[in-house]
Amino acid sequence: MNLRQMAIQKFMPSFMVGIFARPYIGGYSMAEALDLVVDLEKENHLLTTIDLLGEEVQDRNKALSNKDLYLRLIRETAELELGPERPTVSLKPSSLTVVKQTQPELDMDRDLLVENFREIFDLAREKDLDITIDMEDRFWTDVTIEIYTEFLKEGYNHVGTVLQTRLHRTEKDIENLPDNARIRLCIGIYQEPEPVATTDKKVMKDRMVTWGKKLLEQGIYTEFATHDEAVIQRFIDEVIIPGEYGADHFESQMLLGVPRTQIQQKLRQGAYREKLGPIKVRLYLPFAENKADAVTYCKRRLVENPSIVFYGLGNLAMKIFGKK
Ligand code: FAD
Repeated sequence: MNLRQMAIQKFMPSFMVGIFARPYIGGYSMAEALDLVVDLEKENHLLTTIDLLGEEVQDRNKALSNKDLYLRLIRETAELELGPERPTVSLKPSSLTVVKQTQPELDMDRDLLVENFREIFDLAREKDLDITIDMEDRFWTDVTIEIYTEFLKEGYNHVGTVLQTRLHRTEKDIENLPDNARIRLCIGIYQEPEPVATTDKKVMKDRMVTWGKKLLEQGIYTEFATHDEAVIQRFIDEVIIPGEYGADHFESQMLLGVPRTQIQQKLRQGAYREKLGPIKVRLYLPFAENKADAVTYCKRRLVENPSIVFYGLGNLAMKIFGKK
């Protein structure tokens, strides 16, 4: 951890983390988050993927109570009166097991993780909801992909996962995916070092386009997760239009709180390019059952990626000057 990261971890007061984090949090209770899910769909035609905040659990009871919260989330989400496109649920492996250590090698209770996943995935299938396993840092990549593909082999077709373009291995991981995979493609939030990753953002973004194309060519439903309008534009011009991919092959995903209203409207209304129909837009909507969980999560995000503070300031400026 460098000095700047240590300063954030140790000295940034919770209230300040809370200020930066508030636009990105869907609520401080499940009920508040689900109300927002309904409002976003009814008022803005935006779909959501709902995530319970919490990660790197160190005791079994917390992992089990997180699992129970996910089961409740699935039951309550299934009851919502919404259109035919349902919300999905996103989850972090490290919130559903006991993590003893992550570095230099991950040590966690794999059996407990698989057991908890199975219970959640089974209920989600019964309630007709899709699940996405979020991707954490590089120490989790192998085991996440391994467990994910084991579930796919068992026919859990309603489960997807995430691949990060900053990691060099991702190209091979895409080639090895089975046909029934569903992938959210993003640059990745975790700062990863050479030689496992590129640190050049332009390369990460070029790969969003080329690896997004690769996924679609393999027939894999692709969730294109970026707020960078130029990258979305390239994906549409260079991949979607030439490949004549319809809205049943891909969707656009963004984080709740990042101000992209105009782009989202253009995508949804099919106004992005002539010949292009409406595109689904899904927001990642994290919620916490208590503020402490949210602060822990947001502090970790800030430590991993202090530029979020600058994003926050940049977004504020865009709001003030009216550009979105
Ligand atoms: P950037 O160049 O980083 O951002 C472009 C612009 O978007 C910035 O200039 C800024 O204005 C705005 N912006 C981007 N991020 C933020 C932010 N956090 N706050 C405020 N403004 C912002 N990463 C993982 O490692 N694992 C995951 O499972 C994962 N799931 C994700 C799910 C979704 C739906 C999304 C949208 C992202 C997810 N990410 C995940 C994070 C992602 O990998 C990137 O870190 C993040 O989206 C920023 O990359 P970008 O492509 O938007 O480009």
